[in-house]
Amino acid sequence: MRLDQFAAGGGGEIAEARVEAKSHFEIVTHSPAETLEFGRTLALEFGSPCLVLLEGDLGSGKTTLTKGIISGLGLAREDEVTSPSFTLVHEYGREKKAYHVDLYRIEGQREMATLGLDELFSQSAVVIIEWGEKLGDDRSGPYIRIKMEYLASEDRKITVERLES
Ligand code: ADP
Ligand code: MG
Repeated sequence: MRLDQFAAGGGGEIAEARVEAKSHFEIVTHSPAETLEFGRTLALEFGSPCLVLLEGDLGSGKTTLTKGIISGLGLAREDEVTSPSFTLVHEYGREKKAYHVDLYRIEGQREMATLGLDELFSQSAVVIIEWGEKLGDDRSGPYIRIKMEYLASEDRKITVERLES
């Protein structure tokens, strides 16, 4: 499914909606499977390097979306992508790479520094960061911000923005 079809399914009026072309994109998914599928579709829009910051409460679907993205990139199966909430950074792929980071447990600049994010940012990789808002100014250049919101037990609103710095 393409992003414009998601837009149509979500009641959108836009026929040509692509994250690439638009700086703002919004959908509501109605199951984990739909979020996975949206992640797979979204992945097709990502170049590399690419920084993706995921925001949203616990249980809003950040890890679920990341499973879709990493499988959409062709770097692992969905069930091979697990939450890095304890391990902090997971790496996928060899030549083409993605990193999945979780900042939930990270407190303060010193802990942040131990993650070696600068080294990840210097690579030609897709870097996906849960609780990305904690990153603050520890990054530069363009990035994609994805906000996930709990609407109801199976409904999540997903807002994707492409930002310049
Ligand atoms: P986070 O990483 O933001 O804490 P997870 O992806 O780990 O969130 O968990 C989301 C939970 O919500 C999972 O248990 C998932 O099955 C459930 N869920 C229900 N509906 C959806 C949906 N539409 N999209 C994503 N997850 C959903
Ligand atoms: Mg998570």
